[in-house]
Amino acid sequence: MFIDSHCHLDDPQFAGDLDAVLERAAAAGVSRMLSIGTGDGPPELDRAVRLADRYEQLYATVGVHPHDAAKVTPKSIDDLRSLASHARVLAIGEIGLDYHYDFSPREAQRDVFIEQLKLASELNLPIVIHTREAWEDTMSVLREHWKGEGILHCFTGDPVQAREALDMGFHLAYGGVLTFRTAEAVREAARITPDDRLLIETDAPYLAPIPWRGKRNEPSFMPEAARKLAEVRGVGAEHIAAVTTANFERLCLRPRNGNRYTGVSDGN
Ligand SMILES: [Zn+2]
Ligand SMILES: [Zn+2]
Repeated sequence: MFIDSHCHLDDPQFAGDLDAVLERAAAAGVSRMLSIGTGDGPPELDRAVRLADRYEQLYATVGVHPHDAAKVTPKSIDDLRSLASHARVLAIGEIGLDYHYDFSPREAQRDVFIEQLKLASELNLPIVIHTREAWEDTMSVLREHWKGEGILHCFTGDPVQAREALDMGFHLAYGGVLTFRTAEAVREAARITPDDRLLIETDAPYLAPIPWRGKRNEPSFMPEAARKLAEVRGVGAEHIAAVTTANFERLCLRPRNGNRYTGVSDGN
């Protein structure tokens, strides 16, 4: 059984057939998914929370993506704080820096990233990091403002960057990119990532693995990435399923604020 540690099930591309998508996921052995709650940014930050209320196999994150940093007001952070108290919210994310698109000014991205790191510290929640063409700045913000745990989602760095992130205590999540012909450095990073820091994800609807590259990605495609990860590491896919599930549970389903997480929404 797999846990997809990162997917965007609130994406409009799933609006028409989400039930079927989740049925295919279950049939493919993807029993649980972490639905990322960034949506289109503030003021609407509860999209994944609403999905997690509807489907018992879904957990949620809340956060502002760096793309949307310019839309943040002081109220956005208060909204995140209150949404994060929902029983099925497991992390703050995805947050970070994206200098590839630069949809928000870099200064705003940095400020909003730091504010959300403070919020995650305050709430004792792990973080889900998005970083694109911004490695140095992302690492320097994290060094200065973060002492907890987290996930570098869609890790596409090289082995040197993997080592740097691992030394800081992060988990690395690999996905469909592993199957791309040109991704040899990423496969090398996946090879050196220890069992106990390994996670898998789809980032659906983005980044479908080969043979679906360019199509809408969905959680049921994840076993393809897991197979590739298993091949790269010279182990069986069952081993990948076991270690990534255990890691996700340890990192994201740990007790917080003294209350043991039960996996069942208490309706609060
Ligand atoms: Zn991302
Ligand atoms: Zn994402």
